[in-house]
Amino acid sequence: MLDWMRMIYRRMRYLVTSGGTRATRLLASNVGVLAGDSFSPALFNFYVGDILLADREDDVLLDGVRVKNLEQADDGTLVSCDVGNLQRRLTEYEHWAGSKGLRINVPKTHGIVFGRRCGPALEPLKIYDRDVQWTDEATSLGILFCTTRGDVLDKHHLSQAAKAARAAGAILSLQRHLGDLAPKAAIQLYQARIEPLLSYGCEVGVALTADAVDALTKVQINFFRRILGYTKRSMRAIVFSETGVLPILHRRLILALRFYKRMLMDLSGSLASRAFCDARALYVDGQKGWIGDIVVGLTRLAPPVLVDFRRVVTGDHVDALMTRVEDSFQAQVRRDTSGTTAPRRTALMRERVEVDKRGCTRPDAAQYRSYLDIAMPHHRKALTRLITGDHELLGVRGAWAIRGKYIAYEWRLCRLCAASVEDAVHALFTCIGRPQLAALRHAFWDDIGAADDTIRATSPDPAAWIRVLAANPGTQARLGKFAFDVLHLFSLHRAYIPPQHAWRMSSERS
Ligand SMILES: [Zn+2]
Repeated sequence: MLDWMRMIYRRMRYLVTSGGTRATRLLASNVGVLAGDSFSPALFNFYVGDILLADREDDVLLDGVRVKNLEQADDGTLVSCDVGNLQRRLTEYEHWAGSKGLRINVPKTHGIVFGRRCGPALEPLKIYDRDVQWTDEATSLGILFCTTRGDVLDKHHLSQAAKAARAAGAILSLQRHLGDLAPKAAIQLYQARIEPLLSYGCEVGVALTADAVDALTKVQINFFRRILGYTKRSMRAIVFSETGVLPILHRRLILALRFYKRMLMDLSGSLASRAFCDARALYVDGQKGWIGDIVVGLTRLAPPVLVDFRRVVTGDHVDALMTRVEDSFQAQVRRDTSGTTAPRRTALMRERVEVDKRGCTRPDAAQYRSYLDIAMPHHRKALTRLITGDHELLGVRGAWAIRGKYIAYEWRLCRLCAASVEDAVHALFTCIGRPQLAALRHAFWDDIGAADDTIRATSPDPAAWIRVLAANPGTQARLGKFAFDVLHLFSLHRAYIPPQHAWRMSSERS
């Protein structure tokens, strides 16, 4: 490999062109390495591999190993437990860089102190007799450290959330130029372009402050709300129940556990594995640390995942723990959408079963729903909102607080017949308030009968028909159109206005 790289660099020639015409002849250069080439950081590491800094009493120790500097290509970091020693170390570094023909970029160099709450102002550090500024924030390898907050990675998480929000905005804006973005494609774009930003650094920064949790979660939820056609006040759980995407906090914990597993098996003596040994020792001593942070993160899940990491000592143990995190996610979605405490509007989400392409049934509460593949965006979004209870019918809308009040459930009556609560099942299959609705329903059943005439015989409950029709690839597109047409018909009429005594104070809602 090295011989091959030597050959490439030996034969490399450069040419400068301007406006399509040659400005120079072919020329050779033996200065620097190719910018952007994946091999270049390794070449730089070879070049700086002889750096040797003197041991000092206040060196940082990781599992007994002195850590004086960290190099990643041309990014260098010097560390010390003593601020005074930092200047001596910097001077040493300056001499070494000079001997290698390297020059330190002073404006880009900063000093940062962790854990210093107060005290006299620090003398500026010096390189080439120029001042190096002290700072409260510094970025190293894409991680933003901040010393003014309780969690040094808090600002990093907020910054990553802002970057992810910009990426999500760019992806959503594609729809203005290219038309609808199908959920399956949106999930792929999310996993490729948004999730990496939301999870960057999660291997080292697990427990998050309320601000950071809120910022990261909002980006994920808002993106999928737009993709699925939900309103801004929709339940969060219906994002996950329909797409199967893991909430970002669960995802971050699983990635942190994967890193834990990798470290368990890392016997190389690398600095990361040394840090891991120290983290385990801190945990066993009952001290705060990285593993304690993971425990906090796992405990915050609902239902919580409780674990004693002293017993997590093999890869299989970690795998089992990751499964428990996924189980907790499924249990949370099941509880929020179809448990005994779930709201009425999610009634159609109960007892749903997806059938995959091999004909196997999957009862998971959160999974990708095949009806999201309906090609017509308006039909798909109408069906999604109908099934998940995020629609404009009064059965749902009546529960919204308006000036501190909501409508008692039994008074959320149908705007077309006023004979029953206006919910999805009534609107689609039982309302007889308008001839247009009956005509839509007849046409629907005529089309469905041509595809499958057994559906109504399977159950007397129209809610069960919706579940079967939505899970069946042969009928879901027609159901989507029917849902869209029915909701549109209802939107053309004013909602039922209940009497004054039908309103209840939101504050008294149980
Ligand atoms: Zn009706």
